[in-house]
Amino acid sequence: MSKARRYRIKREGLNAHHVLPSSRGGGGRNNLVVLPVEWHASWHKLFTNMTVAEVHCFIDIVMQPDCTWSYKDFEYLRRRLMGGD
Ligand SMILES: [Zn+2]
Repeated sequence: MSKARRYRIKREGLNAHHVLPSSRGGGGRNNLVVLPVEWHASWHKLFTNMTVAEVHCFIDIVMQPDCTWSYKDFEYLRRRLMGGD
C-alpha cells in the first residue's frame, strides 16, 4: 500500500482489514479491504477473526426464528466454525 493511500485512509477515518486474517495465514496487499474504523471494530466485535465464509455459515445458523443464543452458545459455535474443538 502506498504512503499516499495510507495517509488518505488515516485522514478519512478508515482502516485496512485482512479478508483472510493475518493470524490465519492471510497477508499481502491483495488481502485487504478498507472500511470505516467503526465498521472494522464492529466486524471484529461480532465475528472476531472469522473468515467471510465462516461468517456466512454463522449467520445462517444463528438467524433462525425461535432460537435463543447465549454468549456461551455463540462462543461454542464460533469455535466450531473456525475449526476449533
Ligand atoms: Zn480487521
